[in-house]
Amino acid sequence: TPLVYSGSEAQKKKYLPGLCDGTLIGGNAMSEPNSGSDAFSLATTAVKKGSNYILNGSKIFVTNGPIADLLMVFATLDKARGPNGISAFLVEKDSPGMNVARKLDKMGLRTSPMAEVFFENCEVPEENLLGKEGTGASQFTWAMTWERGCILASAVGSMQRSLERCIRYAKERRQFGQPIGKFQLVASKIVDMKLRVESARHMLYHCAWLRGQGKSAYLEAAMTKLHISDCWVKCCEDAIQIHGGYGYMTEYELERELRDAIGSRLYSGTSEMQRNIIASLLL
Ligand SMILES: Cc1cc2nc3c(=O)[nH]c(=O)nc-3n(C[C@H](O)[C@H](O)[C@H](O)COP(=O)(O)OP(=O)(O)OC[C@H]3O[C@@H](n4cnc5c(N)ncnc54)[C@H](O)[C@@H]3O)c2cc1C
Repeated sequence: TPLVYSGSEAQKKKYLPGLCDGTLIGGNAMSEPNSGSDAFSLATTAVKKGSNYILNGSKIFVTNGPIADLLMVFATLDKARGPNGISAFLVEKDSPGMNVARKLDKMGLRTSPMAEVFFENCEVPEENLLGKEGTGASQFTWAMTWERGCILASAVGSMQRSLERCIRYAKERRQFGQPIGKFQLVASKIVDMKLRVESARHMLYHCAWLRGQGKSAYLEAAMTKLHISDCWVKCCEDAIQIHGGYGYMTEYELERELRDAIGSRLYSGTSEMQRNIIASLLL
């Protein structure tokens, strides 16, 4: 997204077709060992030297890190300028001085590889600066707003599938001589799941509609991300509970779904940070 938003024509021509058709894998390297939610306090530095920028520092939790052909790396040219000192760089795999150091094992989302990446006097050609110097923070904020609005679209599908599965199970599974769905305590969970799926879908579509109209959706994107991630985790918990002991067995794959869902409260800004954004716009 930042490439579309602020890339040069040459950068778009070079990278966008491959990123769109999947022949190039991209990644976003913002988080660092000492800066997560407080992303703009990052410590990775960039120094202009001749026709290159020299990057030094380390990034963590880089999704796609182990397989990425291209990373968008955020670094500061002038720490004293705070967010206004941050710039974004397109760094190609195997750039001299870049080292994808450690593959990180996660609780869930295991098909999405993650790594820690180090930069030691990493040379980045000046034409790989994204946008102008000092615009990295605004590019990141813009991209995050876009991302938060749509990153959990697949979670809505996942919740829908869980709901359908639970309805089927509640009709088939019999205890005390009747389908468990006849017990109000079970039926009530299914009602909650339905409410979550529908409200999540409406918020997602509303946010997408706003963006489609070219309107700002800063508040709506934060609310959408917060609401869907919460709904997703709760739906997964209910699905396990409705399936009883079977739901706890790995072969039912409901626990895998829960492990994936929990991550959604963390990436693209934690739930607490979404609440901070919403509160700051309301109060
Ligand atoms: C699956 C996954 C994929 C990720 N992919 C990427 C990626 O591709 N690129 C990338 O750069 N990063 C990525 N991240 C990192 C992610 O963005 C950070 O984990 C997240 O921003 C939180 O930072 P942190 O882990 O350092 O936690 P911290 O910022 O240290 O937060 C710890 C706790 O304190 C709370 N907290 C912090 N500040 C406040 C505050 N002001 N008010 C209230 N509570 C607060 C947090 O909400 C959290 O509960 C990924 C993370 C995960 C889990």
